[in-house]
Amino acid sequence: MAAAETSGTEFDIIIVGGGPAGLSVASEMAKKGRRVLVLEKETAGQTMRSWFVPPFVLDEETKQFNYGGVTRFLAATYSGAKTQWRAKLYPAYPYIDEKKILPYWVGVIEKNGSAILNNTEYLCHEVRGGQVHVTTTQGVFNANLLLDASGYSSPVIKQLQMEDGSYYWWSVYGAVLEMPLSGGLEVGDYMMWQTFKDTNTNPKASLAHGRPVFEYEVLGPNKVFALLLFLRKKQVTKEDMKPLFERMLLKEASTAPFHGAKVLEEKFGWYPSGGVSQNKAANRVAFIGDAGCWTTPCGWGMTFILQNYKTYAEKLDETIKEGRLDAETLQAIPALRVTEEFQVVFDKLVMHFLSNAPAPMLDKFINFFNEIDPILCERMFTLTITKKDFEESIALFLKNFTIGELIRVLPIEDYRLVVRVAELSIMAYLAAYWYKFADWVTGRKNNKVEGFSYEKD
Ligand SMILES: Cc1cc2nc3c(=O)[nH]c(=O)nc-3n(C[C@H](O)[C@H](O)[C@H](O)COP(=O)(O)OP(=O)(O)OC[C@H]3O[C@@H](n4cnc5c(N)ncnc54)[C@H](O)[C@@H]3O)c2cc1C
Repeated sequence: MAAAETSGTEFDIIIVGGGPAGLSVASEMAKKGRRVLVLEKETAGQTMRSWFVPPFVLDEETKQFNYGGVTRFLAATYSGAKTQWRAKLYPAYPYIDEKKILPYWVGVIEKNGSAILNNTEYLCHEVRGGQVHVTTTQGVFNANLLLDASGYSSPVIKQLQMEDGSYYWWSVYGAVLEMPLSGGLEVGDYMMWQTFKDTNTNPKASLAHGRPVFEYEVLGPNKVFALLLFLRKKQVTKEDMKPLFERMLLKEASTAPFHGAKVLEEKFGWYPSGGVSQNKAANRVAFIGDAGCWTTPCGWGMTFILQNYKTYAEKLDETIKEGRLDAETLQAIPALRVTEEFQVVFDKLVMHFLSNAPAPMLDKFINFFNEIDPILCERMFTLTITKKDFEESIALFLKNFTIGELIRVLPIEDYRLVVRVAELSIMAYLAAYWYKFADWVTGRKNNKVEGFSYEKD
C-alpha cells in the first residue's frame, strides 16, 4: 500500500517490523477487526532466517506450512566426545517454510482491511493527547498503541533508553548448501554443537570469549543448512563471522563431507538469549518477538512466536477494549505460556553456562547427553522441563562441576538467580535423599525418573 493511502487514517495499532512477530500478531489483530498499520523498512515477509520448531507449537492454521523435520540430534566436541540420538519427544521437529508462512500472514492482514507499508522506516515516536504519533521516512502516522516488533536492534528500545544490557546475543552466519550426503550424514540430522581443536587453543576460551560452534541441519538428499554461532554479550559482525564460517566449512578435517559444497543462499542474523521475558513496556508501547526477548537459551524465537502470538493477540485485544494502555497493564500481558519458575530459572542458568563456561566445562556439558536421557535436553530447549527433570539436571551439574565453577559462570548482577539456584539445588539434594529413603523403605531397586531410558542411536 502507498503511504498517501494511509495518511490521515487513525489506526488502533502501529506495528514496527514485518518479520514473523509483527506479521503474526498483525494478522490476528486484523482478523479481530482492529485497524493495523505495519511499518517495514525493507519488504515485509522477506526474512533471511529459517526455522525448525517443536510440533506442539503448530495449530491447524500454521501446520500447513511445515515440511520435513529434524529426526536425529548430534553433538561432537573438540576433545572427541560424540553423541547422537533420534528425536524422542516427537517423531520430528518440523521446518517452517518462511517463504510461505510470512506471505500468508501478509495476505491475512490485507484481506482484513489492514495495511502494510514497505520501505518505510520508523524514526521516532511521541505519546501525546492519548495517542502515539509515529514519525517515519514516509510521514507521521497516529494510533492508540505502538507495538515494537523490530527485532534484535530495536530503535524503539533505543529511543526509550530501555536497553538493560542483560541479554546475551546469538550471532549467526551460515548458508544453505547444495552437496551430496557422505560421511554418515542423514536427512533429518541436526548437529547441535560441533567444536574444533584449533578454535580451542586457549582452554579458558568459551563462547563468550569468541569460541564459535558449528551446526548443520540436513534438509534433503543434497541440501544442508550449515551455520556458525557465537553466544556473547556483544553481537559479532557479519564481516568477522564469514571468513571463520568458510574456514570451518572448507578446511577442518572433521567437516570433510562439506568441502565441495556449493552455496545456494547466504543466511545470517542476531537474536537475543536473555532468559524469558516480556518485561518491558512504556505507556502505549509494547514489545513482541526478538524486541521483547521472546526466546530460550538456544534462541528458538520463532518457536515462541508460533506458540504465543494468538494468546498474546487475544489478551492485547481485551486490554484495548478496556482502554488500559498504560505501561503497567501492557507489561502484565502474559506473552509466554511458561508457568513454572524453575523453568525460567533453569533457562537462565543454562544461558549463562553456555556463554561463560570455559571450553573444558562446555565439553563436559555436551557429554551430559551421553549420561542422561537426551529427552531432558529436548524438554529443556522447548521450555517444557518438569520439576523432576530440573532436579535431575541440577544433580547432574553438581556431580560434574564444583559449586565454585558454577558460581564463576554466573554473572554477579544475577545474584538473585544464584540464590534461587542454590535454594532449588538444596531442594533437589533433599529430593534425591528422599527418593533414596523411599527406595529403601519400599525396597525399590532404583529411583530413576520415569521415561529416562536412553538408547543410543
Ligand atoms: C540464521 C538463524 C536461524 C534461526 N533458526 C531458528 C530456528 O531454527 N528456530 C527458531 O524458533 N528460531 C530461529 N531463529 C530465531 C528467529 O529467526 C528469530 O527469533 C525471529 O526471526 C524473530 O522474529 P521478529 O519478527 O521478532 O524479528 P525479525 O525477524 O528480526 O524481524 C524484524 C523486522 O523489523 C524490521 N525493522 C527493523 N527496524 C525497523 C525500523 N526502524 N523500521 C521498520 N522496520 C524495521 C526488519 O527489517 C525486520 O523485517 C533463527 C535466527 C537466525 C538468524
